[in-house]
Amino acid sequence: MDKKAMYKLTYGLFVLTACSKGRDSGCIINTAGQVTSEPNRISITVNKANFTHDLVRDSGKFNVSILSEAADFGLFRHFGFQSGREVDKFAGFSECRRSDNGLYYVTAGTNGYISATVEQQADLGSHTLFIASVDDMEVLADTASASYAYYQSSIKPRPAGPKETGKTVWRCSVCGYVYEGEELPADFVCPLCKHPASDFEKVVS
Ligand code: FE
Repeated sequence: MDKKAMYKLTYGLFVLTACSKGRDSGCIINTAGQVTSEPNRISITVNKANFTHDLVRDSGKFNVSILSEAADFGLFRHFGFQSGREVDKFAGFSECRRSDNGLYYVTAGTNGYISATVEQQADLGSHTLFIASVDDMEVLADTASASYAYYQSSIKPRPAGPKETGKTVWRCSVCGYVYEGEELPADFVCPLCKHPASDFEKVVS
């Protein structure tokens, strides 16, 4: 079995937003897709560690803003590399608007948004799968949607390479952060995107 076959699947990138008890938040997900057309339904899968997961579970409503190739890395850093438990991601964030369901959607670096109401959910251990009916949607721009591959090749900053020949570094495959050293501690957590040591790849110049 070649586990790299999983890398051949394609993914889009989205800002998932929700609000519960007056608290708004949002996070980046790569798992949103249409599952039926009559009626229109979408599915999202959200890591339980995300604060926004709890807001979706508690309120039963969410918006998916579809990230486009015009999205800059700052948008990914803002919604992806910090937790809504610690930071109000909408405090001072102006590139958003509220849709008819009262939730925020992101207006910059996106090409559309979909508002949905949860119909079913499945506990998948680390993640919850939500299946939701579509209440509303709008096209915001004609720019192509950003795929995960496009993010990796064109949005994520080029990581600094090893500075000297023979030096070993470990590179975060999610955000590009570089750790210098022969061995990466097993409990290392990326300071930028909070992904674990298993998401780092060894680079030897
Ligand atoms: Fe990282």
